[in-house]
Amino acid sequence: MCPNFDVVIVGGGVVGSAIARELARYKLTIAVLEKNLDVCMETSGRNTGVVHGGFAYDAGSLKARLCVQGNRMMGELSEELGFAFRRCGKVLVGNTEAEYQSLLKTLRQGEQNGVRGLRMVDGKELHALVPSVEGRFALYSPDSGIVDSFGLTIALAENAAANGVRYFLGREVRNIRRADGSWYVEAGGGVCCQARWVINAAGLGAKRISDLLGITGYHVVASKDDYIILDNRLGDLVPMPIYTVPSNTYMGIHVSCTTDGNVLLGPTAETSDNFSYYGTEQKNLDMLYESAMALWPHFTRGDYIRTYSGILPKLVDEEGKIQDFKIEIRDQQAPHAVNLVGIESPGLTASTPIAKMVVEMVKERERLERNPAFIPERKEPKPFRLMTKEEQAEAVRKNPDYGELVCRCQQVSKAEILRAIHNPIGARTMVSVKYRSRAMMGRCQGGYCQMRIARLLEEEAHLKDTELTYERPGSWLFTGKVRGEEQ
Ligand SMILES: Cc1cc2nc3c(=O)[nH]c(=O)nc-3n(C[C@H](O)[C@H](O)[C@H](O)COP(=O)(O)OP(=O)(O)OC[C@H]3O[C@@H](n4cnc5c(N)ncnc54)[C@H](O)[C@@H]3O)c2cc1C
Repeated sequence: MCPNFDVVIVGGGVVGSAIARELARYKLTIAVLEKNLDVCMETSGRNTGVVHGGFAYDAGSLKARLCVQGNRMMGELSEELGFAFRRCGKVLVGNTEAEYQSLLKTLRQGEQNGVRGLRMVDGKELHALVPSVEGRFALYSPDSGIVDSFGLTIALAENAAANGVRYFLGREVRNIRRADGSWYVEAGGGVCCQARWVINAAGLGAKRISDLLGITGYHVVASKDDYIILDNRLGDLVPMPIYTVPSNTYMGIHVSCTTDGNVLLGPTAETSDNFSYYGTEQKNLDMLYESAMALWPHFTRGDYIRTYSGILPKLVDEEGKIQDFKIEIRDQQAPHAVNLVGIESPGLTASTPIAKMVVEMVKERERLERNPAFIPERKEPKPFRLMTKEEQAEAVRKNPDYGELVCRCQQVSKAEILRAIHNPIGARTMVSVKYRSRAMMGRCQGGYCQMRIARLLEEEAHLKDTELTYERPGSWLFTGKVRGEEQ
């Protein structure tokens, strides 16, 4: 049995989810095949969460054009879909003459790219913008911002699902073949989908999918970045991301802020051929400590909450030079397949413009009929922790589950955990609950509430305890009982 769809999208990162949502505006049957047990489990959930201005990319490149578009539309998108976004600005701090000249070049490139409001500021104005940082001058980008990258991706995916897109989670695409004018996409768990269109939005796996589509010859290298997350007690000291002067290939160490008030130190940038290792290295963390301390000496190792890493898929040419985003249809070689390769930074910022570009490319080849039932908004209730006392009392009166705080440090109520468990794409892991509700994200990282959430998942999703996974396929929370009756 091979269900038939108009479009199959491989990959449920921010790009695949944005494409799913944009395509849902048309009368199409759409499926997303994702190898993980939820969306946003790879690069889209492992980045800095900066909404870039678009000045760092070569004039005329897709990266520059789509980044500027994505930056401009992020405010409206966040209101439509209910995810956290702040247009807080960003500074690139310098001290030497060479750095000044480099920043001037970046400013001119930014102006060519259409970035608004870019200007050089002196040390005094820099200090007024970010009192915790010292420097002789800076390039200030008022239009840059920060976004909750999990919130953005989950919102796109859930809105797509609410508009009829089907998500198949835990389904790794292993083979794609073309027969009788259709694509047959085979995934783990015996899933096979027949489709008129295939869209390769597989991120770090995009080269493999490209090869399966018959578009070979791309060279993609991994660039691994380690980060440290600091306690949100320091959040007020970082009103906007603080960057050093970038080189041609590396953005440099930065001190950034998240929409939840945490501070990020990173990234490290190591080229590798490993596309799946997310461990962090002590030597990198020590290097981050030293470099970040030189830029922003306001933290101690005691402020560390946790570390993480992300991997960028960099498309390179034969000389190893980094290439632009590749977004293509090869009508002869792989008809009705949109191939996206090398979607590295600023892919988060540019995700919706990338999706709109994909739709336009499809529309050049066939007529798409508008879906009059498409609903672009996603109504998210205000988090309990952000409600006034009066709003909290009213919420508890209407729904007593708001009266039970499951995660005390992040003030997440049982009502919000239940809402996270019953998400429209059917993701049922501990981390699915964490990124939707913020439970387990505080200093204790779930030490208090994790077991209560596991019980709620068992009850609500009708799972046995030995079926509960933390994050990835096979990351079982329990393997059996250690006392009491034998399993
Ligand atoms: C360290 C770091 C910092 C960054 N900072 C920023 C930033 O501040 N601002 C910004 O705009 N961008 C940033 N980026 C870039 C941005 O995160 C990415 O461009 C974006 O997330 C790419 O999204 P994606 O959907 O293409 O890839 P992914 O998120 O990797 O999604 C691809 C999906 O495909 C799935 N998949 C892969 N192979 C298969 C298969 N065979 N079958 C089924 N599913 C498959 C994967 O599981 C994954 O979920 C950063 C990236 C990194 C690594």
